[in-house]
Amino acid sequence: MNIYGDCSFCGGEVEEKSIEYDYRRQSHLLIVSNVPAGVCRQCGEKYFKPGILKKMDQVYHDIFDRHQIPERVVEIPAVSFQA
Ligand SMILES: [Zn+2]
Repeated sequence: MNIYGDCSFCGGEVEEKSIEYDYRRQSHLLIVSNVPAGVCRQCGEKYFKPGILKKMDQVYHDIFDRHQIPERVVEIPAVSFQA
């Protein structure tokens, strides 16, 4: 039985994987690895069980509001698109 159901975009099969997720809110970006998520085999759309996003939101606030030290900090290059 598939706890995520079929993909609501393409109808493809959704399988559980452990993914790295870019959790972005306002101006902050938090990279969370080992997140359990349903990923569509056809289009790659991601689905989360209830509680997973809430948990990531808690960690987000722990780090950006309550100044908890993250496991690691990465530098991310940023550019403006030039046509
Ligand atoms: Zn899909």
